[in-house]
Amino acid sequence: MSADLIRLNSTLVANHQGEPMIFVKAVNFLTTVGTQVLAGNPMAPPEVQDLRRAACFACPLHDHAADKCRLCGCTGMIWKRSMATASCPDGRWPAHEPGSIGSMIETAQGGSPSK
Ligand code: SF4
Repeated sequence: MSADLIRLNSTLVANHQGEPMIFVKAVNFLTTVGTQVLAGNPMAPPEVQDLRRAACFACPLHDHAADKCRLCGCTGMIWKRSMATASCPDGRWPAHEPGSIGSMIETAQGGSPSK
């Protein structure tokens, strides 16, 4: 997701009762899926998905009951976390580089995600 979209999202989160408006969700969804498809639909390894899940459930922007991200508006977070090319819109977990879980572990331990 581009920095502009993240800023747009942040503004809309603040102005729209805790989550992005529908057209922003649509842009986020199409951007996420399009990037994943263009990359050949690579999946994140299970250990990376587990770390991403832990990061989401520790995040104040996460709706635990629905497993939903209130920043990007994604409701299928289990699905999004499985996509290697997906990343957290708040920088809490990076896209997965094939053959490496190092950046995800670094992020989970409080470091900055490498993008
Ligand atoms: S994707 Fe990022 S911002 Fe959204 S709930 Fe997960 S950790 Fe939080």
